[in-house]
Amino acid sequence: MRAMPATPDWPPKSLPRLFVATPLEKGGPVGLDAGQANYLGNVMRLGVGEHVLLFDGASGEWIARIAEAGRKRMALVVEDRTREQEKVPDCWLAFSPVKRAQTDWLVEKATELGIARLLPVITQRTMVERVKLDRLRSIAIEAAEQCNRTSVPAIDEPVPLESLLKNLSGRTLCFADEAGGEPVAKAFTPGPATILTGPEGGFTDAERAAIRAAPGAVAISLGPRILRAETAALAAVTAWMALAGDWR
Ligand code: SAM
Repeated sequence: MRAMPATPDWPPKSLPRLFVATPLEKGGPVGLDAGQANYLGNVMRLGVGEHVLLFDGASGEWIARIAEAGRKRMALVVEDRTREQEKVPDCWLAFSPVKRAQTDWLVEKATELGIARLLPVITQRTMVERVKLDRLRSIAIEAAEQCNRTSVPAIDEPVPLESLLKNLSGRTLCFADEAGGEPVAKAFTPGPATILTGPEGGFTDAERAAIRAAPGAVAISLGPRILRAETAALAAVTAWMALAGDWR
């Protein structure tokens, strides 16, 4: 019988993981805000001398020791790097924002699936007038903390569809067209890609023509059923990760 591989016992896997906006380095001090201090102190019941994992989105993951614990503040000292910074597949998702709960869900799940950047795009049939970027960024941070990412996806200010089409930066534009397109197994190949999905009411015919005419655009089909906007976005990201990303 083959021996089981040794299980590393340090750091313990169940340590809480937190994103901090401060750049991390060995020996450096880190202050936590009231929300994070409350989470570690009152929810997780951690105190001075105990350890947590931290990441800053750029330098991998670190283990840090709690040096001071107050009711509204906590100070930590960074001890060692536990993981290098991950290499995120170069896949962006340009999506028409939908209702709040569905957009929240889309951002959380796209982060878990490994998206590098999220670009809200306003189309003629987009029903949402305001996108709360701070809220979406907090959701992405929480999802990154939970799913073991060392990066947090960028979330851009919303742009009109025409601006997106003028600034494709040489990336393949994988346009999810409910009217039909290439099967993803053929269309999704490794390389920088932006997936584009539409609003609940779909794209107008004029928008569909403009997207198809954009440089590097390839229309893709997500199968014979009409998917809800947020399902289509996540299905496309899932397929891209499996066929062209880091699930291969
Ligand atoms: N109202 C549209 C209709 O009935 O034709 C459906 C729009 S769908 C709810 C929202 C978006 O999801 C579409 O604009 C498209 O980007 C994407 N989508 C949904 N189903 C798809 C499919 N089977 N293939 C490709 N894209 C799809």
